[in-house]
Amino acid sequence: MTASNETQISVTRTRTPGQRPADASLSFGKVFTDHMFVMNYTEGKGWHDPRVVPYGPLTLDPATSVLHYGQAVFDGLKAFRGADGQIRLFRAQRHAERLNKSCRALCIPEMPVDLVRRSFEAIVAADHEWVPSTQGTSLYIRPTVIATDVMLGVHPAHSYTYFVICSPVGAYYKEGVKPVRILATDSHVRAVQGGLGEAKTAANYAASLSAQQEAEQAGYTQVLWLDGVERKYIDEVGTMNIMMQIGDEVITPPLAGTILDGVTRNSILQLLRDWGHKVSERKISIDEVMEAGRNGTLREMWGTGTAAVVSPVGELGYKGEKISIGNGQTGLLTQKLYDAIVAIQYGQATDAHGWTSTVRVPAAV
Ligand SMILES: *Cc1c(COP(=O)(O)O)cnc(C)c1O
Repeated sequence: MTASNETQISVTRTRTPGQRPADASLSFGKVFTDHMFVMNYTEGKGWHDPRVVPYGPLTLDPATSVLHYGQAVFDGLKAFRGADGQIRLFRAQRHAERLNKSCRALCIPEMPVDLVRRSFEAIVAADHEWVPSTQGTSLYIRPTVIATDVMLGVHPAHSYTYFVICSPVGAYYKEGVKPVRILATDSHVRAVQGGLGEAKTAANYAASLSAQQEAEQAGYTQVLWLDGVERKYIDEVGTMNIMMQIGDEVITPPLAGTILDGVTRNSILQLLRDWGHKVSERKISIDEVMEAGRNGTLREMWGTGTAAVVSPVGELGYKGEKISIGNGQTGLLTQKLYDAIVAIQYGQATDAHGWTSTVRVPAAV
């Protein structure tokens, strides 16, 4: 493997730049920028040819292995344009490391981590004009690795493509942080010990769809996943990590094999500890949560993830019982966490842990 900090990333600019949508019209993941980052892996050669090229379709043989067996991983992070005009990535290094961790879980050869980090910087620099500036908007960055062998045998591929695409996204909360209703399911599971729960991989999302559909049909927004063995302990909510405040303890399930090591989860736990809160990463059963809901000690509950930062839970359903949390309003701590993370992302608060990195934008030509 070549020393990645010396590897040159070539840039080929598009001759047909797209129309950038107005900030107010942005939603999530529907519009893509002018360029994409691409790099290939072939056995013997390793990862090679890192490049920024015009955004466009990938041409794949119908027998390409990823289309059949799902050997694919991805990640998701954001770039923010601060009031000072600077573009900041939030925890790029940690996202790059997690992408490699997901690669290991799926038998995909790891990439030089600083080259992954530089791929984020390179694509954002190339498409810096696409980073929206209204508060709450951002540029969502989606790095993905797919197996590209043309064969139907089931084994790890010998060739891969890494690509990074970007999408300007609108404010997740256009009218203030809004609580959701969630349904704990014991008829589906997301992941089991020894499975892929710790990896950000396409298969986990495919596995979540039918439960999500059932929850929606029952009038809920998201599924609260219970563990795959006893269907008793809380794992995650939708595609977010879950936290709650019971009495004066903030509780989140431990990273014990079935849940994703969320970057937002990690950041929020750090802030809570900085602020002197009692924080427990421990197993918590749905029965304990329902009981806390009934006896009034369940103060707040929220999901954490890059897309929303925090998503407050206003109602929890389980086995036909419904529990209202905080009268269906966003809790004080949930709101405080949201405000604190957002202020760091937009460069309005001191970044005490060095979570953001500014992207150097090429001089105008
Ligand atoms: C991406 C993801 C999260 C949130 O991770 P962040 O790094 O905070 O965005 C949580 N759970 C699952 C299953 C995920 O895929």
